[in-house]
Amino acid sequence: MSKIEMTTPLVEMDGDEMTRILWKMIKDELILPFVDLKSEYYDLSLENRDATDDLVTVQAAEANKKYGVSVKCATITPNKQRVEEYNLKKMWKSPNGTIRAILDGTVFRAPILIDSIKPAVRNWKEPITIARHAYGDVYKATELRVTEKGKAELVFTNEQGEETYRETVYNFECAGVLQGQYNKDSSIRSFAHSCFKYALATKQDLWFSTKDTISKQYDQTFKLIFEEIYESDYKSDFESAGIEYFYTLIDDAVARVIRSKGGFIWACKNYDGDVMSDMVSTAFGSLAMMTSVLVSPDGNYEYEAAHGTVTRHYYRYLKGEETSTNPMATIFAWSGALYKRGELDGLDELCDFAKRLEAACIRTLDDGIMTKDLVGLVSDGTKAVAVNSHEFIKAIRQRM
Ligand code: NAP
Ligand code: MG
Repeated sequence: MSKIEMTTPLVEMDGDEMTRILWKMIKDELILPFVDLKSEYYDLSLENRDATDDLVTVQAAEANKKYGVSVKCATITPNKQRVEEYNLKKMWKSPNGTIRAILDGTVFRAPILIDSIKPAVRNWKEPITIARHAYGDVYKATELRVTEKGKAELVFTNEQGEETYRETVYNFECAGVLQGQYNKDSSIRSFAHSCFKYALATKQDLWFSTKDTISKQYDQTFKLIFEEIYESDYKSDFESAGIEYFYTLIDDAVARVIRSKGGFIWACKNYDGDVMSDMVSTAFGSLAMMTSVLVSPDGNYEYEAAHGTVTRHYYRYLKGEETSTNPMATIFAWSGALYKRGELDGLDELCDFAKRLEAACIRTLDDGIMTKDLVGLVSDGTKAVAVNSHEFIKAIRQRM
């Protein structure tokens, strides 16, 4: 058969450990036989990041900005132990952090659903996508533990050195704790644009929630910025797409999410997104079935799996043992990126291929052929056989 042609290169970011092994299997078995892959390849393995003084990560992010779409393999974020293990020059920063800083993007996480794995919340029928504002708030807070009586104040000094605000936080009559948080309009605006853009791209309603009734300046600012940007830039597009922007108090959002059928995007402040994404992904089943896409406010996309490099499996693989690591989220990163590339370049065949690839994956699971992690999750009465990663990928290829 003749292979599907591409016009613009896809930015390909290779990674580490078990996911790097899966990466090659996926390309060899599921992509290269069908697509005349045009990719600009960046090796983000820890060895190569170290060899290039992490320049390769910056170059990959710049390429993502230039071409618009990338697919990324999971990568090691080094800690002290990794510095020793890989004999690194430095404890390099998280590649995802570097890429996110360059693209200024928001991460959207959504589960892959199959019939035989029922979400813990019975009425959830469609995926719930969580968008986390990954900037500021408690993650960049300044904290104090105070151990004597005294007055705590919030003070703002402008560039000219004039004190323009001073508020008493609390008069401490005993020991206590104190915290200063901040966020920036520019970051909230980028977050809002990414959310509205992704809602339009995926034709899903967008929910946003904060605690603005209690936080009358801080959270209120988030609410107002979203409202303003919706009214000025997105309202008419939302109306013609038949989707809705819906703001509600975080408590109300939690209650509605649990009662919902799913099928929408839930934009959350940093802390809410951190907590709720773990709740939602656990309730849907497995981290190995979580997809992730970084969307920049100017419309660049980076697709990846939400999980890491699956180190424990990799060490078994190195000992020559067979592993049953689930490649679903990494395959869906490829299909998501190829679909987006096809959409941007007007290549219907490429979009069609991406959809067929996803359908073949789902059919394989529906046929009861699964990696080990999923076998324990399937509902009673479903016949499931555990296979290794390579057998699973082969089974998908057969169905292609
Ligand atoms: P992890 O790689 O996500 O794996 C944690 C555990 O979850 C695994 O040991 C495995 O459980 C299960 N799991 C995750 N993905 C799976 C899959 N595809 N198939 C089957 N089981 C899966 O997290 P980690 O072990 O904490 O981190 C490993 C490395 O990944 C770290 O160096 C970290 O820096 C990096 N990381 C990278 C990213 C990224 O690039 N986006 C994200 C997170 C972590 P069992 O062992 O019980 O089977
Ligand atoms: Mg978390």
